[in-house]
Order: sequence, then C-alpha cells, then structure tokens
Amino acid sequence: MNAELVHGLLYIVASVFFVLGLKMLSSPTTARRGNILSAIGMLIAVATTLAAMEQVRWVWLVAAVGVGASVGALAARLVKMTSMPQMVGLFNGFGGLASMLVGWAQYHGAWAAEADIHGFIRVAIFLTILIGGVTFSGSLVAYGKLSGTIPGRPVLYKGQNFVNAIILTAAVAVGILFSMQEAGRPSAIGPTGAYLLLIGIVVLAFVLGVLSTIPIGGADMPVVICLLNSYSGLAACAAGFVIGNNVLIVSGSLVGASGIILTRIMCKAMNRSLANVLFSGFGSTVATKAAGYKGEAKPIGPEDAYLIVEAASNVVFAPGYGMAAAQAQHAVRELAEMIEDNGAEVRYCIHPVAGRMPGHMNVLLAEANVPYEQLVEPQDVNPNMEMVDVAIVIGANDVVNPAAREDENSPLWGMPIIDVDRARTCIVLKRSLNPGFAGVDNPLFFKENTRMLFGDAKATITALVAEFKG
Ligand code: NAP
Repeated sequence: MNAELVHGLLYIVASVFFVLGLKMLSSPTTARRGNILSAIGMLIAVATTLAAMEQVRWVWLVAAVGVGASVGALAARLVKMTSMPQMVGLFNGFGGLASMLVGWAQYHGAWAAEADIHGFIRVAIFLTILIGGVTFSGSLVAYGKLSGTIPGRPVLYKGQNFVNAIILTAAVAVGILFSMQEAGRPSAIGPTGAYLLLIGIVVLAFVLGVLSTIPIGGADMPVVICLLNSYSGLAACAAGFVIGNNVLIVSGSLVGASGIILTRIMCKAMNRSLANVLFSGFGSTVATKAAGYKGEAKPIGPEDAYLIVEAASNVVFAPGYGMAAAQAQHAVRELAEMIEDNGAEVRYCIHPVAGRMPGHMNVLLAEANVPYEQLVEPQDVNPNMEMVDVAIVIGANDVVNPAAREDENSPLWGMPIIDVDRARTCIVLKRSLNPGFAGVDNPLFFKENTRMLFGDAKATITALVAEFKG
C-alpha cells in the first residue's frame, strides 16, 4: 500500500479517536477513558506526522519535547486547583502563539527561498497569524486578570468599540494586501514589503487581543477563556491548511467548535448574550447594600447547625468557589456520608458557572469520590425546592443569589440560580457577608429561613462532622 494512503488512514483513525474521546468527556463515568482515548489519538497523529516527514531535525524535536514536558510536569505539581482557570487561559494562549509561529515560519521559509506560495495558503497564513496573535495576547490579559496580576475590573473608555473595530478593519485590510503578494516574486512593494505587512498583522493582532479583552471584567473571564479556547482551535485549523496537515485541520475544528459550544452554555447559564459579555463592561458598576437588601443575618454555630441537619430527611448541597478555595471537598463527602447514614437523602446541586471554570465543582467532587448519581443540576432540584429540608451552601454566593429572581436592578437579574432560599432551611457556609466574584450583594443572607455558619468552609464542615461523630 502506498505510504501516503497509510498516513491518510492513520490520520482518520486519530480523528475518530478525538471525536470518540470528546463524546466520552460528556459524562463523568466515561471522562477518564475519553481523555486516554484522545491522548492515544494524539500519539498516533504525532507519530504519523513524523513518519510522513522527509527530514526530521531530531535534536530540535527532542529538545522541544523535553522543555515542554518539563514545564507541563512542573505545572501539574505546582499549580493549585484554584489556579487552574488562569492556567487553562495560559495554555490557550500558547496554543495560539504556536499556530501563529507555524504560519510565520512557513512564510519565512518561502520568503528566504524566494519560492512562490499559493494564494489560498497566503490567506491561511494571514488567518493563522491574526487569530493566533489575538488568542495569545488576549489570553495573557485573561491570565493576568484571573491571577490578580492586573486589576480584574473592566477598563473602559469612550469610543472603545469603535477603536477596536478600526483595528480589526486595519488588520483585515493589511491581511488582504498581504494575501495578494507573492513571497518570492517581485511586486510593487517587493518581498521585503510583503514581509513587513506580515509583521504589521502580528502587531495589530497582539494589540487587538489586548484591547478587546481589557473591557471585560474578571467575573466574565472564564467565558472569555472558553472563547479564546475556541479561537486557539480556529488558529490551529488555519495552521493545518498552511502546512497541509489534515489531522491538524480536524483537531483544530473540534477545539474551535467545542470551545464555542461551551461559551454558549456558560452565557446561557448566566442568562446573558455573548455580545453582553464582550461589550457591556459587566462589573464596572457594583450594586451596594444600599440597593435595599436589609435585614439581620442570623449566625449559628456548628452545634445548632448539626441539630438542623440531623433532623433533615432531604439535604441538598450547593457548592461554589469557596469550597475550592477551602479545599473542603473531602470533608463535604464525609459529612454527606454521615447524613446518609442518618437516613437522609443527599444530593449535590451543581450550577454550570459555580467556581472559576467550567466543571470546577464536578472535578473537585470527583476527586473526593462523590458518587456521580448524586450530582444534579439546578433544573432537577428547583421545581421541588420547597420539599428540601436543608440546603447547605458551601462557599457559593452569586449562583445562589435570589436577587437574580427578585431584583430587576441587580446586575445578576435573569441569571438562572439554585433556589436555595426556597428550601425549608438554608445554611450558608462562608467567612463573612462579603459579595462573591460578581461583586453583587446577596439578599439570601438576610432571609427568614437562612442561617449563616461563618468560617472557613473546611473548618466549619469538619466541625459539623465532629458533631455527628459526637
Ligand atoms: P462566588 O460568587 O465567587 O462566591 C464565592 C464565595 O466563597 C465568596 O463570597 C466567599 O465569601 C466564599 N469563600 C471564599 N473562600 C472561602 C473559604 N475558604 N471558606 C468559605 N467560603 C469561602 O462563587 P460562586 O457562587 O461559585 O459563583 C461563581 C462566580 O464566577 C459567578 O459570578 C459566575 O458568574 C462567575 N463565573 C464563573 C465561571 C465558571 O466557569 N465557573 C464562568 C464565568 C463566570 P467570604 O469571602 O465571605 O468567605
């Protein structure tokens, strides 16, 4: 069989592995196997690409793999679970940069050899550099905002969208001009002029990435990271066209499509449009307590909380970012087991945007070996919330904020929430009455049926467990 055909077939096998792997990632029971399957697909793709190459510079290759693997291994050890969102953001950025460099290197090679490049490939190089560059610089800003290296609030100024539109138009105009130049052939602006156009696209892409991300507030950064993830896939897809690699085109398209689907799911979970996330400067104005959430919060200690939970026959946990910050997931599982031993039904209600990244709570609870069948979504619990004896909120705030349902002036108005305030009793575990990530005050704390169990979530849950043991 001819070698080209074998390579093509192996690329199809790798692509099938990617698609099946992605499908399996949609359920916690198959996610681990899905991950392994996708990794095998990637191994097949890389090995096939190396086998198909006429000449491989092994020294460079081994050095690059060595550096990349060492950074990855170090990151896996050093980066805490709570820092994962910004880490994912950084990875997207490097994906975009890698694609951009592939496009650039391909052009540079042709330019140095004074060789011609097909018009279609020049367009693909332009798109790789534009999308890859925007992804890189935008991801660096997202990383900075999430890690607190730069302020998370939106940076807004008059005519911002107009300025961004001008830069995008300029980038496209330069891109069209660039695509019309032939690398080695003499033209009105010459090969050096064409190269300068390419540098111009790089600069405009970097500037556009920064300027289009700074107006977005820190609270919306996880959505932006999903969008940038989608961009990094599109950049990889364009790079696949540049170097004529089918498996890169397929995998880039898969990342591009899944990133945009995830972005849509998250926007829907916040009841906001993507345009609202990107252009509204959400988080620049903050609702204050003077907005009218009055009343007295009712603090309780672990002893009283125990008496309430012990008497319940139906308990729902609503975890949020505070559970991740406190690393309370193992203590939560232990408490849940004790409540079950006491004869009560336990469910964990996971809001799609709880925490700081998609699936944040699912990952933590899976790590603590919480049974998958106990994980439910807000729409499974909300219709019968009045029948729930106790809702225990563990470091969640925005995703349980009833202002989203009750206060038309709240920035969270319309966001689907977990209706813990409609449970018979709601116990909120957090350290203070401070607002959550969106900076919006929460009337839940002052409701008649709410009790505040103040303190670090791990410490208070451990105290509750001790009460049960006692
Ligand atoms: P949240 O609204 O940010 O609230 C977390 C709460 O945890 C804080 O109010 C904090 O209160 C408490 N906390 C922090 N450390 C704690 C500790 N050690 N022990 C106990 N409590 C602790 O979190 P959320 O309810 O999970 O909502 C997520 C937010 O992120 C939403 O605004 C959502 O829109 C946004 N977001 C998330 C995603 C995503 O991918 N998940 C995407 C887009 C936007 P104290 O300081 O008083 O303790």
